[in-house]
Amino acid sequence: MNKAESDRLAVLLDSSGYQQVSSPAEADLIVLNSCVVRQHAEDRFINRLYLLESLKKIRPALRIVVTGCFVGPKGDHLKERFPYVDDFLAPGEIPCWLSGHSLDFSLPKPKVCALVPIIQGCNNFCSYCIVPYRRGREKSRPLEDIVLEVERLVAGGTKEVTLLGQNIGAYGHDLPGSPDLATLLEKLNQIEGLARIRFLTNHPRDMSPRLLRSMSGLEKVCEEISLPVQSGDDDILKSMRRDYTVDYYRAVISELRCLIPGVAISTDVIVGFPGESEAAFEGTLQLLRDIEFDTVHVAAYSTRPGTIASREYKDDVSPDEKKKRLRAVEGLEREIATRKNAELLGTEVEILIEDNIDGHWMGRTRTGKKVFFGGQGDLLGSMVICRIDKTSPWSLHGI
Ligand code: SF4
Repeated sequence: MNKAESDRLAVLLDSSGYQQVSSPAEADLIVLNSCVVRQHAEDRFINRLYLLESLKKIRPALRIVVTGCFVGPKGDHLKERFPYVDDFLAPGEIPCWLSGHSLDFSLPKPKVCALVPIIQGCNNFCSYCIVPYRRGREKSRPLEDIVLEVERLVAGGTKEVTLLGQNIGAYGHDLPGSPDLATLLEKLNQIEGLARIRFLTNHPRDMSPRLLRSMSGLEKVCEEISLPVQSGDDDILKSMRRDYTVDYYRAVISELRCLIPGVAISTDVIVGFPGESEAAFEGTLQLLRDIEFDTVHVAAYSTRPGTIASREYKDDVSPDEKKKRLRAVEGLEREIATRKNAELLGTEVEILIEDNIDGHWMGRTRTGKKVFFGGQGDLLGSMVICRIDKTSPWSLHGI
């Protein structure tokens, strides 16, 4: 989301006559877009901000703007602490000196694969998460605006869009007529020239039968889903305020795999959450063994001031134990990903080429797996068939 917003802000600045320079020392304007989900990230961000104070002293005309989650819905309280910052902008807000523009309509330069924010904020208040406080409550973009934006992106060369939201399954409930994500997917699926649609991140509770049917019935919607589970233990899920049980989650996965054969599923897991016993952690490992996710993003719990968990729970799993659990999940995931990717050896997959990295073309399968291969000419944006000749846990190589 931050990346998408930075790209949009860059386009606005570009169209207002600003030019990018290579270092802060050369800049007339510095915009810091923050992502501070963890306290550690916030501390690093503040250090970066302090470093800019000296630049401002040397060149008082330098304008410093801070935006993103660090600011939150209101930035008034920050002005006293950082008087040398000229503007604090809420996530997605644009500076008044760029007024007349809108972030939603400042299209990033069309890339083969584009990021399109469709809903901001979250109403869920999971106990460990700062997002609802910093990004505010859910706010959907009008469906027509999104369709128009994607049409314009496609006209400029985009082939794939990834729709973004902290809680994307909630899309539309706050709009007149309450259009939902499935309706939006249906509309986007009709856009000629668009080849693929992805969306993230999903809350398991919002995986309605209607959304699952859309995923399986619309040919442009890719067979890939991110579905954070966070824990494989019901008591921990309850203290996390996730609002589902392990059995419910397993049932959603079964339904997904039944309706969309071969669907790639990624998840997020937090280890060492307050109160997580050995047995509770074993529940998480067992869930990972049973489901065999394609990707697992794992994080060790750390207290995030301002959240419910920071007020109500004691961070009682030792740092060593958290590290041990983190490694156990990583080790298991490596084993599963190695085996799953090895099954693709010798098969042919369709990939959309989105980048060239050190002379190698890179594209992804519909299931989101990265494939690298050598090739002549300009293949950017091409859809090609690759035969997989090498596999590793995190990527594939093809011919
Ligand atoms: S659903 Fe996601 S963004 Fe919302 S509170 Fe929970 S973890 Fe945070």
